Amino acid sequence: GKSMKIKSINPYTEEINRTYGSFPIEECRNRIEKSRAAFSGWSSLPAEERAKFFLNVAELLRRNTEIYAGIITEEMGKPIRQSRSEVQKCVRLCDYYAENAAGLLKAEIVELGAEKSYVTFEPLGVVFGIMPWNFPFWQVFRFAVPAICAGNVCVLKHASNVPGSALEIEKIFLEAGFREYVFKTLLIDSKTAMEIIKEELVDGVSLTGSTGAGSKIGKLAGEAIKPQVLELGGSDPFIVLEDADIERAAQAGVRSRFLNAGQSYTAAKRFIVVEEVVGDFIEAFELHMQELKIGDPIDEETDIGPLAKKEFVEILEKILEDARKKGAEPQTYGEKHKKGFFFNPTIIPAASTYMEVCNIEVFGPVAPVITAKDEDEAVEVANSIEFGLGAKIWSGDLERAEKLAKRIRAGSVAVNGMIRSDPRLPFGGTGKSGVGRELSHYGLKEFVNIKTVVVN
Ligand code: NAP
Repeated sequence: GKSMKIKSINPYTEEINRTYGSFPIEECRNRIEKSRAAFSGWSSLPAEERAKFFLNVAELLRRNTEIYAGIITEEMGKPIRQSRSEVQKCVRLCDYYAENAAGLLKAEIVELGAEKSYVTFEPLGVVFGIMPWNFPFWQVFRFAVPAICAGNVCVLKHASNVPGSALEIEKIFLEAGFREYVFKTLLIDSKTAMEIIKEELVDGVSLTGSTGAGSKIGKLAGEAIKPQVLELGGSDPFIVLEDADIERAAQAGVRSRFLNAGQSYTAAKRFIVVEEVVGDFIEAFELHMQELKIGDPIDEETDIGPLAKKEFVEILEKILEDARKKGAEPQTYGEKHKKGFFFNPTIIPAASTYMEVCNIEVFGPVAPVITAKDEDEAVEVANSIEFGLGAKIWSGDLERAEKLAKRIRAGSVAVNGMIRSDPRLPFGGTGKSGVGRELSHYGLKEFVNIKTVVVN
């Protein structure tokens, strides 16, 4: 086939960073065959040996944090301080699995009586990762590190706007001492990615992305009977009860909603506040919103950079238009920008559940505030959409908050704090937010054959 071009564009300057040729399917077949050859050597190493390689990865990430953070910022516009923390998060992930993977993969002895019986965890082969641009390093490491620790090899189709990050990560694995093809980047479009699954070139698929992509990829993986992990969209509720510390809640809410210019899967996306305190909450929230510095993402002071792609600005404008038509009065803060894909922080007080902004996943700095008459109505609103990724609850009464946590349909709930991806804790969604889990021992065992052995 004819090779398409993959373009990396700086969302702040709007200039092209670099253009890359994409791989035709024949080249993918060829490369994946080499990955399969690498699998036989890699999977035969003891788990302890495999895990040790990730100490080298962590060391490289530490040493070159500035370089990698610079690439992230240049390709998708994340403020540089946040890009640095993203790289540091990858370090913690590598350290965690370097230390724990072998232990977690140990055979489980099951006493049945006379026979000897145990369960082992064996790698599957080539795991195909399809990843998004919003955390261009973290998302890739989150799927690849546990999969490789378990003895698999990985091929990556990264989002089309972050090819530089994709190639840099491939380089990190090589420099860390992995044999070539244990981790490999394929520069391909989504059509070629689907073809790879259809042709059954890979043994498992891990997708992080939108629910739409999840449903298409899941269907293909299902047809091929391949295991899959789908980490999809969300619209996390942020519930504030009348007994909450309003000032702390507002501060955390602003941080959660506007980090990464609102383009985070774990961001608070719907603020559901009990009537009694909604006025106080909005007032405090607006104050903190106005403190955010919007501008050049390479500037150390910047809190909010541009959105990753030009078309996202238009999508957000349409969402605001829908809210206005339905009676809302969105408030936007900050000055106009001469260049860059900017969208200024916006709050929608008195948002209603029939507005688009309260139903679809809004990937940008827009904060709708829904008023609930009490705790029960807050739960009802929280559970009224098809997503179920995370939820945040703010209350001064921890027992009450924990009871509420039980009633929320979500993969994770944080009380009086933010949802953070921690390698020790599983992460994933329920409902249309996905299938399967990443991180911790759960993530480590997603792409393994759980094999039962009974010796009579
Ligand atoms: P996206 O459009 O779904 O893209 C994600 C990845 O899937 C990209 O590599 C994309 O490639 C690829 N893709 C899209 N459609 C495909 C198809 N039909 N076949 C094969 N590949 C396909 O999502 P995005 O806009 O990049 O990322 C934002 C979304 O990801 C949000 O919904 C967010 O919530 C979700 N997300 C979820 C988590 C989580 O942990 N649950 C984490 C981060 C992000 P191209 O770039 O070439 O289109």
